[in-house]
Amino acid sequence: MSDYHFPYKDASFLINQVLDFDQACRDAGLEDVNSELADAILEEAGRLGSEVFAPLNEVGDKSGARLEEDGVHETPGFAEAYRQYAENGWAALTAGEQYGGQAMPRVLGAATTEIWYSACTALSLCPLLTTGAVEAIEAHGTDELKSAYLPDLISGNWSASMCLTEPQAGSDLAAVACKAIPEGDHYLLSGQKIYITWGDHQMTENIIHMVLARLPQAPPGVRGISLFLVPKFLLDENGRPGKRNDVYCVGIEHKMGIHGSPTCTLNFGDNDAAVAYLVGQPNQGLAAMFTMMNEARQGVGIQGLGVSERSYQQAVAFAKERLQGTHSDGSRFPIIEFPDVRRMLMLMKSAIEAMRALAYVAAAESDLEHTATDPEKAQKHAARIGIYTPIVKGWLTELSQEVTYLGTQVHGGMGYIEETGSAQFYRDARIMTIYEGTTGIQGLDLAGRKTLGDDGKALQDLLDEIQATVEDMSGVERLKMLADALQAAVDNAAGAKAWLLENGSKDRNAAGAASVNFMMLMGYLCGGWVMGKSALKVEQMLEAGGYDEFFLKAKQITTQFYFEHLLPRTSSYHVAILAGSESMMALDVEQF
Ligand SMILES: Cc1cc2nc3c(=O)[nH]c(=O)nc-3n(C[C@H](O)[C@H](O)[C@H](O)COP(=O)(O)OP(=O)(O)OC[C@H]3O[C@@H](n4cnc5c(N)ncnc54)[C@H](O)[C@@H]3O)c2cc1C
Repeated sequence: MSDYHFPYKDASFLINQVLDFDQACRDAGLEDVNSELADAILEEAGRLGSEVFAPLNEVGDKSGARLEEDGVHETPGFAEAYRQYAENGWAALTAGEQYGGQAMPRVLGAATTEIWYSACTALSLCPLLTTGAVEAIEAHGTDELKSAYLPDLISGNWSASMCLTEPQAGSDLAAVACKAIPEGDHYLLSGQKIYITWGDHQMTENIIHMVLARLPQAPPGVRGISLFLVPKFLLDENGRPGKRNDVYCVGIEHKMGIHGSPTCTLNFGDNDAAVAYLVGQPNQGLAAMFTMMNEARQGVGIQGLGVSERSYQQAVAFAKERLQGTHSDGSRFPIIEFPDVRRMLMLMKSAIEAMRALAYVAAAESDLEHTATDPEKAQKHAARIGIYTPIVKGWLTELSQEVTYLGTQVHGGMGYIEETGSAQFYRDARIMTIYEGTTGIQGLDLAGRKTLGDDGKALQDLLDEIQATVEDMSGVERLKMLADALQAAVDNAAGAKAWLLENGSKDRNAAGAASVNFMMLMGYLCGGWVMGKSALKVEQMLEAGGYDEFFLKAKQITTQFYFEHLLPRTSSYHVAILAGSESMMALDVEQF
């Protein structure tokens, strides 16, 4: 298994140069935060990732979580690594100061999150859900709930889980059947949740479950779902974990990957005593849970990035060592010299750079939304985040399948053998297009709610911004051909959007048929856009001099490769979208 190192140069270039972190911090009134601090934070996180988390990745794969009499026991070594993570303040990095957070910009949160996922995906899933729960409680909880639960969640003393799925309610949350009955100042919750990530473990003093359930007489469907907070241990009069609550893990799943992340079946109220507290308004639970899910969806996109980067690093190391060619003088050369191996490595590298840039751009948008003082501007940023979220979740995780597949392919037979570790990345990545809403659900979100839902306005705003980048690139001699390629991709997206708006109401299958192709088209386009923005910066920096030319010139080549090999995929998605739903829906079910 190869070592892991965080690609600081790329991250720092994106954050400090492309996103102009210093200016962004000044605009947000963050006087003590600047690019030097950002670099120091990334370096320190990278050290914890490489030295503490990364060696546990393989351990988690081989010795996954176990269910015993007293609950779930996590992989040996995870608790100590998690303790270091929490004690060094990483759990609190981006949370608000009121409850003990450090209020650092979310773009730094995105970069550090990439580190944790590259280093050890299974372990890092635990803090992901805690961050989402913090967001949901902050946005929808009462002051009492906030002061009782947020400080320990933000510090990482406690972790959280997200409990939506039930055996009959997967993508279709309208079928949620767990019940909550009022009982004095709280509720008693009953029912079963399945597939709950980090639903039980011994790493933290308490686990706070965020649970969707129905109140008595709630309307059917999604309009009758409420959100509840259910602690594993009830808080005593001093606010510390006391009596055990009636929620127990009754089974954990045996999975294809992320073995170190316990995936639990949780029974609530088997003894009629699962104490629960309402978060937000009755029957408004899905909207409240979306605060948590949107945070987690972007997080899962970054997981796709993280696992891809680790797979790439290992593939490069292998390709430099594995000798399979022979020069005319009889000396042997490594496989990295073969064009097809270069194709695979360049595809991985350019895809990862585009994924990283898009994830950071989305996080920076979130910073803009949180610091906006003008409600109209905040609303605009929120609409843009609404567009980015399904793309970051859907496109990054779909690309991670291709990247980790290629990581294995570069290894040849050794990639299929578990000892090299390459297969683990491929297996670990597989869940990422499934949980937090499958790729199908992300596609529907983008094409339906986010595009048809507002007549394509928010999407058009993004296309206009990309168009402006095309104009900027056209003005730079070296980037003219790339600008033409980006223009073609913008035209594909505009054509797909127009088709969707025209056919969405005429054909009830149109949006569903186009949805994933549309999300993927937008992903490749956004990837081209952020690579184009980087290319503009590279040209300026090369002209000014004084920056690492070796890095900048590599960026030029990676961008060129992306524009030649990945961006043209927008054309085939466009063609498929225009074909509509006819052949997709024509066969009788019996003809399959
Ligand atoms: C390892 C793991 C960890 C998980 N962690 C959690 C967790 O912490 N908390 C939690 O609540 N859940 C969790 N889940 C559950 C996960 O979110 C669901 O598995 C996922 O949402 C899909 O639901 P499902 O499995 O019921 O598939 P289904 O909903 O049955 O989907 C099956 C297929 O049908 C497609 N499909 C379904 N509905 C539609 C539609 N309307 N339009 C188009 N296509 C559709 C899907 O895209 C998919 O291809 C986890 C699952 C796993 C495997």
